[in-house]
Amino acid sequence: MHELAVTEAILKLVLATAARERARRVVTVSLRMGEMSDLKAVWIQRYFDHLAAGTVAEGARIAVESFPPSFSCNHCGHPFFQSLRTVDSIVCPLCGSGSCTLTGGMDYRVESVEIENGETRR
Ligand SMILES: [Zn+2]
Repeated sequence: MHELAVTEAILKLVLATAARERARRVVTVSLRMGEMSDLKAVWIQRYFDHLAAGTVAEGARIAVESFPPSFSCNHCGHPFFQSLRTVDSIVCPLCGSGSCTLTGGMDYRVESVEIENGETRR
């Protein structure tokens, strides 16, 4: 299961952030996930619930926001974003060429980690 390895990596990063910030609890983990990535948000939440049990990240909510894939035109080199949910084919918005290469949108990253800590800020 692909999501398990990804979730382990996410949890590691979240726990490192929590330790650095001396968090008592992790509330929300915001993920940005490429539309082209094959990760399923529901599985990430399930694995996270399991893996984070007994840590400060136990019970944290995973908030997933998707971003459209990016392309580069093979004809004129123009880079652009295009969601595949709204079009049937990829065409360069600059020169109209249908020959484009997928350059991003398969990956994910942790955008932010919302924590609670017991310290009073002065
Ligand atoms: Zn072009």
